[in-house]
Amino acid sequence: MPPVRYPSLEQALSKQTPANRLLIKDFCADLNLTDFYSCSGYIKAVGPGRKHALKIYPGRTAGFATEDEARRAAGPGGRYEPSDTPRGTWWIEHPDNGGPRPKRKLTQSASPGNCPVCFMALPVSGVCGNC
Ligand SMILES: [Zn+2]
Repeated sequence: MPPVRYPSLEQALSKQTPANRLLIKDFCADLNLTDFYSCSGYIKAVGPGRKHALKIYPGRTAGFATEDEARRAAGPGGRYEPSDTPRGTWWIEHPDNGGPRPKRKLTQSASPGNCPVCFMALPVSGVCGNC
């Protein structure tokens, strides 16, 4: 079945929570995304001059072209991670991501823990801001 085009972003997001809707509308405006399609399990969002479509899932959006783009879209404190599908793109987590959170990778950067010196929670960079 070919994807069905939504008449508006508002309608495409009718099943998203209010917090997610705000975030998604913000980055869609920021990235000049103009067309939204109903696909199996996600909303495909495209705009002029974009190489990769964004895939808007209930709990996350994938397909950001750069880390900078993902960071801006995720908003202050929002989670964003590199993706392999397609390689080189980034995905972000929505404020309401429904159900169990995606498993965090067991890497230093995904879960920096606490500073061994002052025991303050470390930022994602892993560099203590207190010491
Ligand atoms: Zn410290």
